[in-house]
Amino acid sequence: MSEETKKVICGLCASHCTYEVQIKDGEFLGPDLRKKPDASPMAEFQRKAIAACPRVHSAKDFIYHPDRLNYPLRRIGERGSGHWEQLSWEQALDEIAKQIQAIRNEFGAEALAITTSGEQNCADEYRARFQSLFGSPNFMGPSCGTGMVVSHMMAGAVIFIPHPHRETKLVMLLGVNPAQSLPHLWRVLQAMRKYSGLKTIVVDPRDTKSAREADIWLRPRAGTDAALLLGMIRTIIEEELYDKEFVDKWCHGFEELVQRVQDYPVEKVAGITGIPAGSIREAARVYATVKPGLIFHLTGVEEQPNAIQSIQARYILPGITGNIDVKGGDVMMAVHPTARAVSEMDLHELMSPEQQDKLIGATKFPLYSWRTFRMIEQNAKKVSDRPVNGIWLVGFAHPASVFRAMIDGNPYPVKALLTIAKNPLLTYPNARQIYEALMKLNLHVAMDIFMTPTCRVADYVLPAACSFEKPFLHGVEIYPFLRGGEAAIDPLYERKPEFYFWRELGIRLGQEDYWPWKTLEEAYDWRLEPLGMTFKDFIAGSAYDSPPLPTKKYEANGFGTPTGKYELYCTMLEKLGYDPLPSYKEPDKSATDMADDFPLVLVSGCRSPRFYHSQGRQLDSLRKQSPDPMAQISPETGKRFGIANGDWVWIETRVGKAKFRCEYSQDMTPHVIQAEHGWWYPEDDSVESFFRSNVNAIIDDNLDTCCDPLSGGYAFRGQMCKAYKA
Ligand code: SF4
Repeated sequence: MSEETKKVICGLCASHCTYEVQIKDGEFLGPDLRKKPDASPMAEFQRKAIAACPRVHSAKDFIYHPDRLNYPLRRIGERGSGHWEQLSWEQALDEIAKQIQAIRNEFGAEALAITTSGEQNCADEYRARFQSLFGSPNFMGPSCGTGMVVSHMMAGAVIFIPHPHRETKLVMLLGVNPAQSLPHLWRVLQAMRKYSGLKTIVVDPRDTKSAREADIWLRPRAGTDAALLLGMIRTIIEEELYDKEFVDKWCHGFEELVQRVQDYPVEKVAGITGIPAGSIREAARVYATVKPGLIFHLTGVEEQPNAIQSIQARYILPGITGNIDVKGGDVMMAVHPTARAVSEMDLHELMSPEQQDKLIGATKFPLYSWRTFRMIEQNAKKVSDRPVNGIWLVGFAHPASVFRAMIDGNPYPVKALLTIAKNPLLTYPNARQIYEALMKLNLHVAMDIFMTPTCRVADYVLPAACSFEKPFLHGVEIYPFLRGGEAAIDPLYERKPEFYFWRELGIRLGQEDYWPWKTLEEAYDWRLEPLGMTFKDFIAGSAYDSPPLPTKKYEANGFGTPTGKYELYCTMLEKLGYDPLPSYKEPDKSATDMADDFPLVLVSGCRSPRFYHSQGRQLDSLRKQSPDPMAQISPETGKRFGIANGDWVWIETRVGKAKFRCEYSQDMTPHVIQAEHGWWYPEDDSVESFFRSNVNAIIDDNLDTCCDPLSGGYAFRGQMCKAYKA
């Protein structure tokens, strides 16, 4: 009888917690979250935070669940009919490669689109390598991350990770409710408030626990964050609370910013946001004087009208107050200083600019274009010789445009799709149109751990190893640290890591010279070589490498932007034809005109503590805790529309309706209904069930009226709807 523990990186969400798991006679018993007698206070703190996560207790289910995909399957009968036959990996890969080659010959490499869940669950650098060598630019990435691209432009290929440090005196949470969605961060903030006097400002229209417990809670009308932040910027400038030295020496465009905020007197901003002018001024004074401070925003800001403008203003605030790259402030992250970075693996330089520029959606929505990436890369290289890992944020096709191309062949035909660890029918808007698009493909290959709705309409379904069945090297993309997690067990049945799929498919398509590593672990050995160790050595040691991250890095060579400064006035945005400074625009009048028919504002995309996007609905341990798709509404709004707490309701927009169980919540502002996303019914294989409670089936993705004009981002928050008893 053998018992052992293994160090893993949890892949059940993007937080990438590390912990040990227990293995007995080769069987995965589960995470070892017992208190260790010699644990440091920090380790104990982390253990408790992980133990409080509902998902972590479902780890064993992810491995042994009877519905896991275990063998490659090939469709027999009509697509979507649910009839499959088992075949070998060799045969499946041979057939898939042959069909892809035929599509490339007839329509060009760009006729192949790829979508994955990204690096967090499937070592996506190998997808990027395959794709660069194959020659298709059409990778559909996540529908979030706009903020990181804007920070790349304003600060020079860097992102800011909101990591409260011992020195942090203030945290401003923009539309984030860590008390519910980020319990780990919430615990840190609670401890810092108690022991080091941390102050918090929360900007949130919702009445959340994080907001209620904040020192200052600003409750703007939904979608008006840009105006609020511009009002704060104006106050800071007007009252000369800005950091003159940093602004003079390191910021570009301050004078233009001063001119711009003349349009935003605080009284006017108060009228737009519904927040008293005195509160806006008070928050601005506190933010500018309680230093160092950092700002934390997530999709709440990125998935609404005025998103880019709000994000620009969000990054201007630390710029003018000198909170940039100081300990405890908004620290600029960097690539790991020595390890081979993912962009040395992805070979993006092998795809010609002409081919890159065939990226679908790049002309209408240039933010994620390769042209943007090339600008970011060119400027960043002026100040650093380390690789630019912007490729993980830029070079994304616009999903709604790609799905349209599958249907109508514009701007050119897209005939094949590789869907890896992704469930676009649930996670991108306008799900019915996506269904139509998938049904038109010549070839759709899906690789996943469960038979999702998206898998059900594939031609080949391939069984993926889950995060506990494969090693993972995490962290060199945009953070200067590395973490390693070993495979807790070997993959069961015929499950494989995605690396295997990309390598084997690549070799069958003429890429054999570029895949010297036979396994994922060998590839990780190559990436760790500059550290003088193998992946096994790394795991046997601390499995963690975090070289010191210096602050004020810009002092050496300036910022990696066109001006060499921190760009309050963003010249890359200007070059792309967009406003280089933030502004606030009132929502499209057509939305107001719809108010009689659709009197409520729909908010979706809020994170669930149990389900990570569309995962986990088949796991009893989680489903028992959250059996139904929920929609929250304030009691007063519920009563106004004849909806009682616990009623099933239809939420209807101009593109369709979906069903949720209503829950009264004091958090909700009147006129707002919040619906959970990612809901499907693994117990029901009808096509209708894909859409029944799928909030993305009722989110409009109209390219002209519903997508951000720069990023193409979707309004997951802010579409007009009505709700009524089902
Ligand atoms: S599921 Fe829980 S334990 Fe796992 S990475 Fe996410 S937060 Fe951490």
